[in-house]
Amino acid sequence: MSGTVRVRFAPSPTGHLHVGGARTALFNWLYARHHRGAFILRIEDTDRSRSTDANIAAIVEALEWLSLDWDEGPPTPGYRQTERLAIYREHAEWLFAAGRAYYCDCAPEQLERERRAAQARKETFRYSGRCRDRGLAAGALRLRIPDEGATIVNDLIHGPVTFDHRQLDDWILVRTEGTPTYNFCVVVDDVTMRITHVIRGNDHLPNTPKQILCYEALGYPLPEMAHVSMILGPDRSRLSKRHGATSVQAFRDAGIPAEAMVNYLARLGWSHGDQEIFTREELIELFDIKDVASSGAVFDHAKLEWLSHQCIKRMDADRLAAAVAPFFPAVGLAVPRDREYVARVLPTLRERGKTFRELLEVGRFYFERPRDYAREAADTYFTETGAGRLAALIARLEALPSFTPDTLERAYRDLGAELGLKLVDLAQLTRLALSGGTASPPLFEVLALLGREEALARLRAAQDWIIARRRS
Ligand code: GLU
Repeated sequence: MSGTVRVRFAPSPTGHLHVGGARTALFNWLYARHHRGAFILRIEDTDRSRSTDANIAAIVEALEWLSLDWDEGPPTPGYRQTERLAIYREHAEWLFAAGRAYYCDCAPEQLERERRAAQARKETFRYSGRCRDRGLAAGALRLRIPDEGATIVNDLIHGPVTFDHRQLDDWILVRTEGTPTYNFCVVVDDVTMRITHVIRGNDHLPNTPKQILCYEALGYPLPEMAHVSMILGPDRSRLSKRHGATSVQAFRDAGIPAEAMVNYLARLGWSHGDQEIFTREELIELFDIKDVASSGAVFDHAKLEWLSHQCIKRMDADRLAAAVAPFFPAVGLAVPRDREYVARVLPTLRERGKTFRELLEVGRFYFERPRDYAREAADTYFTETGAGRLAALIARLEALPSFTPDTLERAYRDLGAELGLKLVDLAQLTRLALSGGTASPPLFEVLALLGREEALARLRAAQDWIIARRRS
């Protein structure tokens, strides 16, 4: 169907998916979904020495995690550049036959000398055009570009960007040994995949005039172009490993929900009023590539964590339990068999953990007995007086007819009044026995969730600890 939007995400599988790539993928995906067009995944693996199947698998996995589904792409054959060599050859032959490209047999050493000489003059190297009219039938295939004039990239984000042809040269389409170059593959792919909008990082802007001249030589209409600005670190230099984790996988493994990541990436360079939190449907409805900022966006870790926390707070208990399940081993806990128990306790932790992982770190006492008690708190509460209070608490809790937050609160208040104590004194003593520390979700809820048997076992363990210390 003519007029249908077709966009592509075209990663080079030389590493994992990084946040910059993920954002490019997301912007393409949103654009496609907004226009009910097609989102295509293409693997640019012509750099065979650096492209690996493991990296492709990791990129696919990361896109799946973000739920950026593609309408065309792997595993269907024909979406990896190494599977498309015949198509590049065909286009190269056509350009040669049409006189738009010519063969060049300049020796690499000669070109290297010219390159160095240009460098010494502080000029960018341009091929001299020596072989243009020699009518050679073999060698490196070069695109014949106009000497005069300029190519204007009408970028949807940056507006018109002019490249003088004197900055460009007759670039190589196919190397002497027969391998097509990166820029040539991209053009042939975009043309044959009928891409209507090229949305990519603006590190590719310098390639664009070369590519446009190749479209023109092939006689194809240009797609729309949108070059998204780079993601920056806090020091405003391009985001890199120096600034900490940048792979999408690292954020997944840190326990950031996928929807928080998507929301964060969408807001990185794009905005809609002051709104911070968007559902996926809202993003699809509101996103427009024209609203993407032309300046670089700073990656803000704290903002991502804030969004992660917002997502976690909004998740219902069952989804939360399912999402947290993979993180038990990562924090050194056995995966609980009782899923329902997990779904009951996690909501009490929502305020305390910004990531799935943090939820388990702050809530580990729900899944294992304290291995130790916080030192200062133990000095304060696990004293002889404390031992007496523990005994009184144990007796009370054993006798409670039902073990609910309400009955527990009543029992604590009554006992506090009888002993002439503030509620907080009994509460902190209990928290320490249950969790090993003095910060936890509301105590009576925690007691009820752990259940009578487990709660009593921990109170008794605290008694034993005090007795053991007395002896030593
Ligand atoms: N393969 C390129 C990259 O990973 C993208 C090329 C393009 O989008 O045109 O940066």
